[in-house]
Amino acid sequence: MKFYKPKNLTELFQISEKIAGKKYFLAGGTDINVQIKKKMITDEPIIYINHLEELQGIRETDESIIIGSLCSYQELLNSPLIAKYLPFFRASLVNFASPLLQTMATIGGNIANGSPTADVTPLLLVLDAQIILMAKSKMRHIPLRDFFTGYKQFNLKKNEIIGGVQITKNAETGYKTFYKKVGSRKALTIAKVALAGLKNSEEYKLAVGSLNEYPRRLSKIEEYLASTNTPESVKLEELLKQEITPISDMRSDKDYRFQVCLNLLLEFIQI
Ligand SMILES: Cc1cc2nc3c(=O)[nH]c(=O)nc-3n(C[C@H](O)[C@H](O)[C@H](O)COP(=O)(O)OP(=O)(O)OC[C@H]3O[C@@H](n4cnc5c(N)ncnc54)[C@H](O)[C@@H]3O)c2cc1C
Repeated sequence: MKFYKPKNLTELFQISEKIAGKKYFLAGGTDINVQIKKKMITDEPIIYINHLEELQGIRETDESIIIGSLCSYQELLNSPLIAKYLPFFRASLVNFASPLLQTMATIGGNIANGSPTADVTPLLLVLDAQIILMAKSKMRHIPLRDFFTGYKQFNLKKNEIIGGVQITKNAETGYKTFYKKVGSRKALTIAKVALAGLKNSEEYKLAVGSLNEYPRRLSKIEEYLASTNTPESVKLEELLKQEITPISDMRSDKDYRFQVCLNLLLEFIQI
C-alpha cells in the first residue's frame, strides 16, 4: 500500500492525477483505519490530508458560513460562528460518537465515507447546504442533495476532493427545528433511524438517515405537509413507503425502522 503526504493542495492534485485507479484520503482516519484493519482496503494508495491548511477552518462571508472539510466535530462544537448562526446544527451534533472521536472525525470524512448512517448528512440536507468540490484549477459548488447518486456513489470527478460545505447564515432562522437519532444506546451509537426537520408556516424540510442507500430529503412528504393543515397518518404512511427503503441488518429490522421513522414524523408534525 502506497502512502503519500503532499505538502499542499497543489501537490495533492499532482499526486492524485498520477493515480489511475481507486485511491483514498486519510483525514481523521476514524472510518478508513477501521476499513484497513478489516482488510476492506488492501492495496489502494492512501493520501494523507489532515495537515492541509487549505481544507481547514470555519469562516464567514456576508451571507454564509463555510466549513472546511477537515473541520473536526470538536471544532464545530467549539465554534462561536456555528453557535451564533447555526445553533440547531450545533446542538444536534453534541452526541456525535464520543468526545475522543469528535477530536479526530472530520465533516468531510463523514460525508465522503458515504455511509447511510452518517449523522451530519441529514442535518446538512435540511439546511440546504452546498458542497464545495475542489480540483486542480477549478472549484464548484453543488447542493448536497445532488451529491449522492447511490450507495457510496457520488457526483465527484476523478481528481476532485471535498473542500468543505457552505450553509447560509439564515438557514435555520424562523424555522421550528427537529432532530432525533435513534440507536441502541445514548452514547457512542450508530443511528438505526435519524430524522432531521425544519418547518415554518409555509414550508417543510425533512431528511432521513439510515433508511435508504444514502441520506436524503423526503420531498413527497414535504409537499404533502405544505399542502394541508390536517395531515392524515394513513397518507403519511403511504408516502413514507414510497420514500424510504429500510433494510434489515444487525442493528434492527426493516419493520422496526419503518415504524420508528413514522413515529418520529408524527412527533415532528406536533412541534
Ligand atoms: C467508534 C466509532 C464511532 C463512530 N460514531 C459515529 C457516529 O456517531 N456518527 C457518525 O456519523 N459516524 C460515526 N463514526 C464514523 C466516523 O467517525 C465518521 O464518519 C467520521 O466523520 C469520518 O471522518 P474521518 O475524518 O475520520 O474520515 P476518514 O476515515 O479519514 O475518511 C473516510 C472516507 O472519506 C474519504 N475522505 C475523507 N476526507 C475527504 C475529502 N476531503 N474529500 C474526499 N474524500 C474524503 C476517504 O477517502 C475515506 O473514504 C464512528 C466511527 C467509529 C470508529
